[in-house]
Order: sequence, then structure tokens, then C-alpha cells
Amino acid sequence: MDTETTELDRILAAAAKAAPALAETTPGQRAGWLVAAADALDDAADELITLAAEETHLPAAPRLKGELLRTTFQLRLFAGVLDDGDFLRATVDHADPDWPMGPRPDVRRALVPIGPVLVFAASNFPFAFSVAGGDTASALAAGCPVVLKAHPGHPRLSARTSEILRAALLSAGAPEGIFDVIYGIEPGVTALKDPRISAASFTGSVPGGRALFDIAVSRPTPIPFYGELGSVNPVVVTPGAVRARGEQVAKGYVGSFTLGAGQFCTKPGLLFLPEGHGLDATLTEAARAVGPQAMLNERIADGFQAGVARLREQPAVTVLASGDPFTPTLLSVRAADFLKADEVLRAECFGPASIVVTYGSHAELLEVLGELEPGLTATVHGEDAEADDVRKLLPALTRLAGRLLWNDWPTGVTVSWAQQHGGPYPATTAPTTTSVGTAAIERFLRPVAWQGFPDALLPPALRESNPWELPRRVNGTRL
Ligand code: NAP
Repeated sequence: MDTETTELDRILAAAAKAAPALAETTPGQRAGWLVAAADALDDAADELITLAAEETHLPAAPRLKGELLRTTFQLRLFAGVLDDGDFLRATVDHADPDWPMGPRPDVRRALVPIGPVLVFAASNFPFAFSVAGGDTASALAAGCPVVLKAHPGHPRLSARTSEILRAALLSAGAPEGIFDVIYGIEPGVTALKDPRISAASFTGSVPGGRALFDIAVSRPTPIPFYGELGSVNPVVVTPGAVRARGEQVAKGYVGSFTLGAGQFCTKPGLLFLPEGHGLDATLTEAARAVGPQAMLNERIADGFQAGVARLREQPAVTVLASGDPFTPTLLSVRAADFLKADEVLRAECFGPASIVVTYGSHAELLEVLGELEPGLTATVHGEDAEADDVRKLLPALTRLAGRLLWNDWPTGVTVSWAQQHGGPYPATTAPTTTSVGTAAIERFLRPVAWQGFPDALLPPALRESNPWELPRRVNGTRL
């Protein structure tokens, strides 16, 4: 049921009230809350996984079990980010009368929490991109209260996860208002327009993310909107890789695009193979062997069926595999025809569908890559001996994606310090950021410089004695 207006107002008021209190907390305090939250979710794993399996049709093991593990690991990793302290980017420039451009005052810069964050949860990751997922973890780590718009695909799981998360945060000492959950499209939009919300994040479809982005930036006071949207995730296979291990690559590809019934934003949607690759039979057999798959919910199932019907209608397309509504669909098209075809061939079809594009030459491959929309990932399967040819593809692939992979598959996104999950629009509405990995915290922090302040009035991060023992840059030197 949708959150009522008075309840929504209470939640937004509590978040606004909690924001200054949260901004005053130490990174160490917040690290403790995140660990407490992770422990509480781990303790409730059996109950949560059962609920998730009932509501999403995803298998309890290994999928949901692994996703919850990733989610609690993520909370603990952000606790590590807080302990490390580098995320504050504390920088001190002492006053310098001899500064070459003229005398310099004492200037000190650090990041502060942006304020209450509205998080829109996704359907396809009921843990990792939902209530206690990466957006919530990174916003809480930054010191921002979170108002979470639950996805209607798993309402009972959202309610229970919220209850456990809230209780764990409060009993670890976090202030009232640090976290709450809301339900329904209208309350989500109302919250996005509310001046008490300072930033929003979203994981979902391009149309949904775009609609919400437009609202966020059209407010009287626009706010940052971090939309993580869809992607086609091209995979390029070189002639050398086809010769050396074509069958293995073909089977690996089918495994990747059908994983989780293709309901991943990192699902590879386009496979570029050299003409005469001879892998059609292997691809077809592997796709057929997967059999029918269960989709997350009716809306996604309907969208997938409509998407496959549109793809199959395209005149230049050959059907390699397709059958019952939810068996994997694999189509094939020549690069020259792909270039002339309707845009539908270049768009994400969310679910177990993918297209093989055969290229006649390196030049033709480059031309097609130049025509693709940016996305989250781009992959190359090649041989070390082909490095000179592959190097020529890299500028095109770098334009296309936030994460490049070599001889691997894009599904499966590790959570780590170096991870980048994002990309130019339409992969995201904020290509300078990531929603996965420790750098995700930067979305919810805002830089402030203090000029000429006495030590006692500076935030601890910038005091001369460095009481939090942060890594800092002082007068240009990393300490
Ligand atoms: P979705 O249907 O766009 O829903 C996401 C959230 O946004 C829901 O809470 C939904 O609320 C809300 N929403 C969507 N359109 C809205 C609108 N016009 N006005 C107000 N609220 C709106 O996406 P989904 O079904 O959860 O996920 C599938 C898509 O997500 C795929 O395209 C996939 O590629 C993408 N995805 C991206 C990533 C990434 O990291 N980039 C990760 C996972 C999934 P209601 O449902 O209540 O309408």
C-alpha cells in the first residue's frame, strides 16, 4: 500500500532533523552502525532469503544467498572506507606569503554529507540494489539519512529488511530519522520534489530513470540525481579467440546472457563475431539447453515478450534460438545490416535475449562500435598475440563504457576499491560516478573549503593536530 501523505511528511521531517546530527558524527561511529546492520541482516539471512525467493522467483542458492552475502560484505567494506578516512579528501594549505600568484590565506578543504538522500530500489537485485543495498550503504557511510522508495516487486522483503536495518542502526546509536522506507510511485515522486531531499539515486530502467532525473533537475532547487540505468554491454570476439577457443567463448557467452534469466543490467546483449566464425550450432545448442526461465515479475515478463517480438520482426535478422516465451532467444545479423536496421536492435532487451553481429573486417567492427550507445561494460575476448589490433579498438570501447573486460564476462560485479559501475548516458545520468565499489560514497558528499578559520572552529578532519589521523594533503604533499 502507498505511503500516506502524513506518514511521508513525518518521514521526510525526521530525515531532515537527523541530517545535522548525522553530519556531526565521527566516521568511526558510522562504521560501527554499518557493521551492526550487516550483523543483523546476516542473523536474519534464512528468513530474508525465504521471503526474497517467494517474491522474486530467484533461486535461494546460490543466487539470493550470494546476493545477501555481497550486501552485508558491502556494508562492512564501507565501514572500512570510514576507518581509512581518505574518502574525506582532507586538504590543508597553510597561509603562505610567498605563494607565486600572491600571498595565500590558510585554506582547508574537506567533504561533508550532502543531506537526506532518496534511494529508488531496483527489482532485480532484491538485496544488493534494494533496501540495504549499495546506495543505502554509501549514503549512510557518507553521513546522510536515507529515505528508501521500495520496489513493488518485493514489498514484504522490503518491509522486513527495513525493519531489521532500522532497528540495528538505532540500537547501535544512530539518531532517529536515519533510515525509513516509503512505498508507491506518487509518494516517490512527491519525496523527490520535496526540498528536504538533497540528492537521489535510482537503479532501474532508462524510461523510469530519465523521468525521475527530469523531475530532480527541474525542481526550484535542482538536486544531484544518480540514475543507474540499462545497458547493452557489447562483447567483441577476435578472430584469434575464435580459432583458439571459439566453443568455450560461445558457451560462456550463453551462460552470461542467460544468467539470472538475463535480468542483469550487465547482461551482454550484443556478441560481435568475425564472419565465418562457425559457432552458430554451438550457440544454438547452448541456448536451447538452458530451457525456460522464470522472470522476476509479470511486468518484466510482459516487457521481455514484447521486446523479443520486436527483435524477431526485424527483416535482416536470423533466429538462432527462440521458443516458449521464456526460453533464451538468440538472433543473428550481419554488421552491414545492423548498421541500417531499426534502433531496436541496439537497445537493451531486459531478459534472456541476445544478438550475434557478424563483422567482415576490423574497419567494419570499428564502424559498428562507433554507432553504439554507451553502456556499463564492454568486453573483448582475444589472444595476447593480437594486442596491436585490440589496442586499436580500445578508444572506441572506452567511449562506450565505464568498465572494460578482457577474456571475462560482464555479469557479476565485484564490490571493491577499484570497481567502476557506471558509464555515459544512457548507462547512467551521472557518468562521473559509480554506484558500486567504495567510490560510490563520493556521490553523497559535498566539498567545503574553510578559509582563515581558527583551529578550534575547524571540523576535526582539518584541525592542525589531525585528531582522526586521516591521510591528508598538506601544502601539496600527501602525508
Ligand atoms: P524500473 O521499473 O524502472 O523501477 C525502478 C524504480 O523506479 C521503482 O521503484 C519504480 O517504482 C520507480 N519508477 C520507475 N519509473 C517511474 C516513474 N516514471 N515515476 C516514478 N517512479 C518510477 O526498473 P526495474 O524493473 O526495477 O529494473 C529493471 C531495469 O533496471 C533494467 O533496465 C536494468 O538494466 C536496470 N538495472 C540497472 C542497474 C544498474 O546498476 N545500472 C542495476 C540493475 C538493474 P514503481 O515500480 O512503483 O513504478
